[in-house]
Amino acid sequence: MSAPLIDPFLRAVTYLRVSVTDRCDLRCSYCMSENMKFLPKRELLTLEELDRLSSAFIRLGVRKLRITGGEPLVRRGIMSYVEAMSRHLQSGALDELTLTTNATQMHRFAADLVSLGVRRVNISLDTLDERKFGEITRWGRLGQVLRGIDAAQEAGLRVKINTVALKGFNEDELFPLVEWCTGRDMDLTFIEVMPMGDMGTEDRLDQYWSLRDLRARLGERYRLTDLAERSGGPARYVRLEETGQKIGFITPLTHNFCESCNRVRLTCTGELYMCLGQEDRADLRPSLRDPAAVPLEEAIRNAIARKPKGHDFDYSRQSVSGQMPRHMSHTGG
Ligand code: SAM
Ligand code: SF4
Repeated sequence: MSAPLIDPFLRAVTYLRVSVTDRCDLRCSYCMSENMKFLPKRELLTLEELDRLSSAFIRLGVRKLRITGGEPLVRRGIMSYVEAMSRHLQSGALDELTLTTNATQMHRFAADLVSLGVRRVNISLDTLDERKFGEITRWGRLGQVLRGIDAAQEAGLRVKINTVALKGFNEDELFPLVEWCTGRDMDLTFIEVMPMGDMGTEDRLDQYWSLRDLRARLGERYRLTDLAERSGGPARYVRLEETGQKIGFITPLTHNFCESCNRVRLTCTGELYMCLGQEDRADLRPSLRDPAAVPLEEAIRNAIARKPKGHDFDYSRQSVSGQMPRHMSHTGG
């Protein structure tokens, strides 16, 4: 293996998130506008290019790879990329291959994912109410996602539910969601809504439900014990003593977790974002396609040398600052 990727703040980059498509079969209102314009297909890296790029990162010390999007399971032929990454699990170069999905297509792929070495998946779900699900995703059907979750669990995948905390939307479902996950032996992580993408009419401050408040509400019913565990990511965890249920909190806005950041994000067009909350990025596509360009591993090292110290999201002055013009589906949530 080549020398590992170390950024200017001495953080080792060992986690790559790969957005394999910007497309999605849903239109969650905090993530996409209703009339999203997607990239022309010719702009996307081919699956073979995604393999070459991801494999270069693995040679440079990436040990964990998460496939995301857009919705990764709507990319045609996606399982050939999963299969390609699976060979790195078999060789021992990769510790974990996982994905984040809305689960609408999970019934088609769960068994194959397991046979290719995927052990855990994150599934995004913000409500258990059919009407509200249709509203937040603009046209999604809750039943399809619940069937996807069943399929994932039946295939033997460990499921973690990711729920975006949305004021006035799912506040009243805090306990039902917790109890549902407990009953199905699934971990649950809440995410603060982040100022990504210009959604036009939506006001982020109206949607913002601080996880500090959410946690306090949980504490009214359960005894919470902070867990030291950090799963290599930004989530902090508590255990509910009465049930043993683990709850995660991803709080980009009330806590800054940048000091331990070990990750970078690759878009489906081959751009590398060194930080979710900054615009600086490196275009790796020339190094994939043009023999005269900077060699790929060198281009990756040059990009990591620019990884910033942290993001600038901040809601504290009752206005949204650090707002990112791009959508989460572009960079991969
Ligand atoms: N389509 C897949 C899914 O929904 O799980 C993967 C991509 S999605 C962009 C990844 C995660 O980002 C989801 O859990 C979603 O809820 C979250 N997300 C999207 N936009 C967000 C925002 N503005 N703030 C916080 N989380 C967001
Ligand atoms: Fe699609 Fe995921 Fe964004 Fe929802 S959060 S619109 S499922 S990419």
